[in-house]
Amino acid sequence: MNDHRQPAEQLGHASAEQTAAAYSADTAPAPLPPALVSAILRDPDSPYYPSKIVVFCDECGTESARDYMVSTEQTSAERLEVARRHLRAEGWQCDATGDFCPEHRTPPSAVVLAEVAYERARQDQRWGEQNHPDGTGPRVPALVGALCYADEAADRARLACQSAARSGKTTWRLVLGEEVLEALAEDDPAKLRSELLQVAAVAVAWVEAIDRRQAAVERPSGGRDAGNRR
Ligand SMILES: [Zn+2]
Repeated sequence: MNDHRQPAEQLGHASAEQTAAAYSADTAPAPLPPALVSAILRDPDSPYYPSKIVVFCDECGTESARDYMVSTEQTSAERLEVARRHLRAEGWQCDATGDFCPEHRTPPSAVVLAEVAYERARQDQRWGEQNHPDGTGPRVPALVGALCYADEAADRARLACQSAARSGKTTWRLVLGEEVLEALAEDDPAKLRSELLQVAAVAVAWVEAIDRRQAAVERPSGGRDAGNRR
């Protein structure tokens, strides 16, 4: 009798390694090459099969319904994660708080500010309520060693920032440094308060920039309309 199984490559079977590589948790989501999809479909031994997964925006109900290749070996949570991973690369927010379309995702600032609030709660828990004198003013040491007074340091930091901006060499170090030194040089409580809010805002902006950089690294190369609809 004939063994009518042909060599795997003639049938176009995907090897277990190819299939696993296409679906492993750390690969960036990308459309599968059609050849690989049909190879998987034709392979009677493959645990993968196409399945329609619908994800709704918790805010507006916008739905994304698409076919994804999932495996019989995946739990239902893992299958949903396949879809969520694709949607995240297209700007959706899919996390423990729910699923949100690009229009209704939490603005990055709100995410970072929530982290700031969390850190504040943690500080209170660890150190208790803190009440220190301000210790600021134009004639106090800028930081610890009195290399120069705070107002002079703030002026220098401002000049450094301006000159960096003119030559396109602005860095977060310079920007945050300027805000911090301006706060240290302030002796009026209302103005000190406003400087401290600027310090916090710049620190938050810096964190957001780090997050964007990280997201760009994780985004699939040439990834369609990935991430941005603004
Ligand atoms: Zn929505």
